[in-house]
Amino acid sequence: MGIIRRAVLHSRPGKNSEPVAENFFVEEANLPDGIAEGQVKVQTLYLSVDPYMRCRMNEDTGADYLLPWKLDDVADGGGIGVVEESKHGSFTAGDTVYSLNWPWQTRAIVEGKILQKLDPELVDGHLSYFLGAVGMPGLTALFGVKEKGHVTPGASQTMVVSGAAGACGSLAGQIGRLEGCSRVVGISGSDEKCSILVSELGFDAAVNYKRGNMTQKLREFCPAGVDIYFDNVGGDVSDVVLSQMNQNSHVILCGQISQYNKDVPYPPPLSPQTEAALRDKNITRDRFLVLWYADKHEAGILQLSQWVREGKLKVRETVTKGLENIGAAFQSMMKGGNIGKQIVLVSEE
Ligand code: NDP
Repeated sequence: MGIIRRAVLHSRPGKNSEPVAENFFVEEANLPDGIAEGQVKVQTLYLSVDPYMRCRMNEDTGADYLLPWKLDDVADGGGIGVVEESKHGSFTAGDTVYSLNWPWQTRAIVEGKILQKLDPELVDGHLSYFLGAVGMPGLTALFGVKEKGHVTPGASQTMVVSGAAGACGSLAGQIGRLEGCSRVVGISGSDEKCSILVSELGFDAAVNYKRGNMTQKLREFCPAGVDIYFDNVGGDVSDVVLSQMNQNSHVILCGQISQYNKDVPYPPPLSPQTEAALRDKNITRDRFLVLWYADKHEAGILQLSQWVREGKLKVRETVTKGLENIGAAFQSMMKGGNIGKQIVLVSEE
């Protein structure tokens, strides 16, 4: 038996409240020595905290593809680690592996079928990128832009991205540019984030939605109106963007984080005025889930990793150290404490 640490869901915030670090509790437990046929013993390196986990904190997630976390049970999510011992034919000790359902433990015994082997060379050894730019958020940005953006090179399109300094948003804007948008404008929640968007990530301009007159700023930065809107946040911010969209333009409905601490369905209902504006201007706004494009994930990962290695896609991360801080990292990400992908470093490689 070995002593491990694990993070369990200690309490539910309730559908109409902000989650707090104390909703999670870190405790010690025993990990058995032996593993059964088909199982793999892993050491955890990095864990991901993501907005969809807010739904998993509710008794009813409101989404058929998401199971609720159980009270006093170990939470799980995207994770990366190293195989210590394997009784599954696809893995051997020393392999770097990923799972979308990695238990929030320092070490764990898992079924081999939940793991995927990773090639560290794809990310030049920067393994946490597999949770961000070369992982689920990167694929979300890539397929969102490609499948729902209708980007046409040479058509002088303006793309606006909300949640622009976050994991998906920071990549979506850059991918919009790589795919052929002529102008990319970000919206984020601090001056520091806005300045990074422009100076490091190649956005043409950025608006801090928490300060000043956003309507006016956006109009100034998008003089020809908005052709493509990559929407991560919904709510008031999106109402402003939607009011400045052009005829026959496109919304990439990625997420609506401003509404996740409210008891509303997904996607949350729009105001009658906004609904009418979408209809009148023939604006598309389909639902979009990265999980729907599983058959294209492998090719997407190769594309993203190539862009990162070539320096065409700049990557930002906010790394919190220690499993004991995973609840705080989640709370902070939900409130905008992160720049780029929020990662939790559990143990050094
Ligand atoms: P981020 O890294 O973008 O982190 C969340 C960010 O949301 C915060 O940094 C904060 O930035 C912003 N935010 C929080 N509250 C508000 C608010 N009330 N109004 C405006 N912005 C707010 O997370 P991800 O990149 O992982 O996720 C971004 C979105 O993409 C989420 O809505 C998520 O659900 C969605 N998503 C959808 C997927 C799909 O398949 N459709 C897959 C993955 C993610 P700021 O400082 O700017 O406020």
